[in-house]
Amino acid sequence: VSQAAYIFLGPPGSGKGTLSKLCVETFGWLQLSTGNLCRKHIAEQTDIGKQIDFIIKSGKLIDDQLITDMVDCWLEEVVKTGSTLILDGFPRTVDQAQRFIQMTNRKYPELRVQIIRLLISDDAAIDRVVSRFVCSNKACQAVFSAKSDSGLVAKRDLTCDYCGSPLCRRSDDTEIVMRNRLQVYRKHEQDMLNCLLDAQTPIKEFQAEVPIEDMFNSFINAVMR
Ligand code: AMP
Repeated sequence: VSQAAYIFLGPPGSGKGTLSKLCVETFGWLQLSTGNLCRKHIAEQTDIGKQIDFIIKSGKLIDDQLITDMVDCWLEEVVKTGSTLILDGFPRTVDQAQRFIQMTNRKYPELRVQIIRLLISDDAAIDRVVSRFVCSNKACQAVFSAKSDSGLVAKRDLTCDYCGSPLCRRSDDTEIVMRNRLQVYRKHEQDMLNCLLDAQTPIKEFQAEVPIEDMFNSFINAVMR
């Protein structure tokens, strides 16, 4: 079988990062979270980081060309490994979707791109994000929750289960910025999706308002069949 690349599509708070982490840990797949990569640039104060710091804090989107170039670079490194790939948080706009389709058709025609769409209401997504904690180690950025029923409570208070670094809050995980992020996401969602579907990209949809283990199990059952 040819190499698969899953596009994890869903609003902030839908569980893309957590589901990715489970796939990476369980199967050794490779993930690119464009959001994590952006935050890494900011932490390292690179030229790109300085350019995007304010945009991220306000919940707006980064320039399409800049984000697509990041994905392009990553694919150059990872396609040759033959691993199953996860794109978490990309594409987010029609322009990104078009660039991505063009790029993969031209450079990686063998890659089996599939959409995994996570469905969640705005209220549930906000509820998750305002109680979210993330690992402050930018090479980790594991996601935790203060909600006792989430299955994502850190074993030791404010300490990452995976790497032991302190947990922190994302500056854009406030209710006000999150409402803006959701509005931005919803604005682009349908057109971007239509663009991928027009290019015959297969799609599977999952209810994301369930415990993460349940979502992981439905995902595994659906893709491993
Ligand atoms: P996330 O971690 O996916 O919630 O992304 C955090 C922030 O990074 C977003 O609010 C955007 O500012 C930026 N970002 C991440 N992915 C993209 C993308 N595909 N296009 C534009 N901006 C992005």
